[in-house]
Amino acid sequence: MELAVRKYLLLYINLLAALFLMVPGLQAKEKSFTIVIDPGHGGKDPGAIGYSAKEKSINLAVALFLGEMIEKAHPDTRVVYTRKTDRFIELDERANIANRNKADLFVSIHTNSVKRGSSVRGTETFTLGLARSDENLEVAMRENSAILLEDDYLQKYEGFDPTSTESYIIFEFMQNKHMEQSIGFASSIQKEFVKTKRANRGVKQGGLLVLRKTSMPAVLVELGFISNREEERYMASSSGQRALARALYNAFDRFKNEYDRKKGALNGAVSRSPAQQQQVMPERQTATTTVAVAKKGTVVYKIQIMTSDKKLPANSRQFKGYKNVSSFTERGLHKYTYGESTNFNEIRALRRKVAKDFKDAFIIEFVDGEKVNK
Ligand SMILES: [Zn+2]
Repeated sequence: MELAVRKYLLLYINLLAALFLMVPGLQAKEKSFTIVIDPGHGGKDPGAIGYSAKEKSINLAVALFLGEMIEKAHPDTRVVYTRKTDRFIELDERANIANRNKADLFVSIHTNSVKRGSSVRGTETFTLGLARSDENLEVAMRENSAILLEDDYLQKYEGFDPTSTESYIIFEFMQNKHMEQSIGFASSIQKEFVKTKRANRGVKQGGLLVLRKTSMPAVLVELGFISNREEERYMASSSGQRALARALYNAFDRFKNEYDRKKGALNGAVSRSPAQQQQVMPERQTATTTVAVAKKGTVVYKIQIMTSDKKLPANSRQFKGYKNVSSFTERGLHKYTYGESTNFNEIRALRRKVAKDFKDAFIIEFVDGEKVNK
């Protein structure tokens, strides 16, 4: 090619690029939030099988409806699916997809089934943890058994046998810093299912492999029982699938709004210059801590070591032998703390020690017995 022609061509390409950047409509909207939607099973793994429907198809249909609703109403949200078609994906890979995409939320969609009796019905949402009932363990075992269809599953999951109860002990101390948000999101989903007139089996914990490696708030939803003829019919129908997706969407909407609110508050604080912050501080104090000031505002620091939706006994094994663990409740959750001091450096030193056993332990602050939320 002649040099002059090449020059023109280059100019032309540059112009096109500039035009593309200048026209707002051509640019992708900025995505500030990512949700990974994981329709359980697929391909050679049908999941639970009903009278005529298959779990994998119900999961996928609801997942696609949900994603569509989110994309329509939340243009700043990126929706990533672990699968959009009928194909087999390994459990660990599902979590990897979420981690690689730096997802802010992970929701795995499943359909329940029991061998005994066709009258069992209802929805339930799981977060990662040790199953505290045989029923919950049964769900985890059934869902985890998908790995039996994977190559080298023993190696990949470090000898984990999804069918042996002993394998599940590894989930006992599996707490993560997203647990509180996961439980909050799970409760929100269950509330929405109730509004949709579905039977509510509650928020549960289970040793679910698909949630194990996720590093963001993550839940696994069981939409209903495919072993129950009536629920099977509902879940296999397009209207039922839409209604279930709508319930999940409403819970997502609440989660996302809360996320934006917190992020907005954080950005507001960060973007102020130190001088501005000083000006703002006194106003804030009078607005939020009037009571504390009146009572002299004694500040006490504690270390929060874990959160649970259940009240745990003082000698619970989950406390790993720590004595004098205190607790308080907040928004329906039990929060467990260790140690207390009015000296921040002291509590910081203690937290460092505690973190060896509870790696996500963090410091919280109380003013005159009231927790300070930052
Ligand atoms: Zn499933």
